[in-house]
Amino acid sequence: MQTLPEPVQNVIDAFARLPGIGPKTASRLAFYLLRAPDELSLTLAEALQELKSATGLCEVCFNITQAGKSRCEVCSSPERDENTICVVEEPLDVIALERTGGFNGRYHVLHGVLSPIEGIGPNDIKIPQLLKRLQEHPVKEVILATNPSMEGDATALYLNQRITPLGIRVTRLARGLPVGGDVEYADQNTLLRALAGRQDMD
Ligand SMILES: [Zn+2]
Repeated sequence: MQTLPEPVQNVIDAFARLPGIGPKTASRLAFYLLRAPDELSLTLAEALQELKSATGLCEVCFNITQAGKSRCEVCSSPERDENTICVVEEPLDVIALERTGGFNGRYHVLHGVLSPIEGIGPNDIKIPQLLKRLQEHPVKEVILATNPSMEGDATALYLNQRITPLGIRVTRLARGLPVGGDVEYADQNTLLRALAGRQDMD
């Protein structure tokens, strides 16, 4: 039986570990790179290396920052309202909300959602950090902008139970977002409507 040379197999294995890429696509990508000009692989390798080495997480909200900066742009801006925190699942959600221009508060990025099926509990995402942040610096309102999915809703319910006793108003993005439609993919108008029509959780 003929096997692939190890360097090719290594690339296929690495691609196959990415979400949404099966063994077939992984092979196709590996062979594409093998045939493409050297420059493409080198650019890709450099970009991947910098992805980790040149970025970090904001120590306040866990959004992505440039390496060496302890706070993201939003957290370091004196213009932003400190009394409202919008809780999102991923850094891409911050970008989507920023693009609307309709939110002037701060963020907190959870880096995931609660998912009992996948064994993801509160301590596996940035929930303890959020609660600590709120205890140390109480705000007026927390907007829960997790996705309208089963996990996103469960995460919002959990957070509501933990945050309401702190005397903070907790709201959830309005149902303008289609069920199953992610915050990061929503168009600007839909997001703006969802923000404006946010409702108190109870
Ligand atoms: Zn930040």
